[in-house]
Amino acid sequence: MTRFWSPLARALSPYVPGEQPRVADLVKLNTNESPFGPSARALEAMRAAASDGLRLYPDPEATELRAALAVHHGVEPEQVFVGNGSDEVLAHAFVALLKQPQPLLFPDVTYSFYPVWAQLFGLACETVPLDDAMGIRIDDYRRAAGSIVIANPNAPTGIALPRAAIARLLDEHPDIPVVVDEAYVDFGGESAVPLIADHPNLLVVQTMSKSRALAGLRVGYALGDAGLIEALRRVKDSFNSYPLGRIVQAGATAAVRDDAYFRKSCADIVAGREAMTRELVGIGFVVLPSCANFVFARHPQRAGPALAAALRERGVLVRHFDKPRTAPYLRITVGTADDTRRLIAATRDILGRNGAPVDATPA
Ligand code: PMP
Repeated sequence: MTRFWSPLARALSPYVPGEQPRVADLVKLNTNESPFGPSARALEAMRAAASDGLRLYPDPEATELRAALAVHHGVEPEQVFVGNGSDEVLAHAFVALLKQPQPLLFPDVTYSFYPVWAQLFGLACETVPLDDAMGIRIDDYRRAAGSIVIANPNAPTGIALPRAAIARLLDEHPDIPVVVDEAYVDFGGESAVPLIADHPNLLVVQTMSKSRALAGLRVGYALGDAGLIEALRRVKDSFNSYPLGRIVQAGATAAVRDDAYFRKSCADIVAGREAMTRELVGIGFVVLPSCANFVFARHPQRAGPALAAALRERGVLVRHFDKPRTAPYLRITVGTADDTRRLIAATRDILGRNGAPVDATPA
């Protein structure tokens, strides 16, 4: 029954998130969650916050959390904005900064939420093709534009640009807002945060869903010049003044302060990625160089959709994006060593004995 829908609701093509299965004992490598739990200190802080205090609204400014993030990133609290997942922060950035008279530019292969927000909020946009190696080429952004958003490392490729490339992009576009989505930067990328001081048009967006293992809590944040942050706050306060509850603020603050746990889990995931990459290459996959907590890989003897479906039959969930350039690939999240063993065993089973492809179907 759609007759009461607004014309906008009718026209939308919503983002489709990765499956959250209800079946136990699946190897879940499809949504880039952390295989390790959150910081024990964060869990303790959240238990303490589950108290009578919940009858009161939370701090609308999330003052303590923003202060902790400011210390962690070496910026001022006025340069920090927090929201209900980086998805919400990015959505606000589309409205507050990226919606300009000239079009928004982003790569043709990137986070598939960008075109969805562009449609929802009525932004004109242009996609800029990745190069043949599936990398972002900064030179290709030299054209008339109202704003730019890129993910670095990019998703779903995992490929990262060095900070110097982002600096060049900013230097070439000093008069338009540039958003760098660093959801995966803690797994080996170079953050653009040090560029904020000299670039009042740069907004860096990060999340606690991946490297802080708090996808279930929903916390993301943006760092940038206080002027950009003020624009985000205006949009937030025209939408939802209390996006982060008391338990969320307590847990996120404690997680940011637990630097030792953060560093150790990132290092373990990077080591897991390298091990998984070696194993995948060993059974014939082509794996793009990843700086994220996932890899983007294709097998020359198997088409992406068939491989994803065959893995699912064997209890292994990976993500497949059915667009022309991404169709041959699978995006596989870095799990535990045991997850990797099960992934490789299932793939060997699909490919035939010892990983030698049987019944080859060209990708
Ligand atoms: N940016 C990118 C590139 C992502 O892959 C994701 C995860 N889907 C997000 C942002 C949003 O993450 P979250 O809302 O959990 O912070």
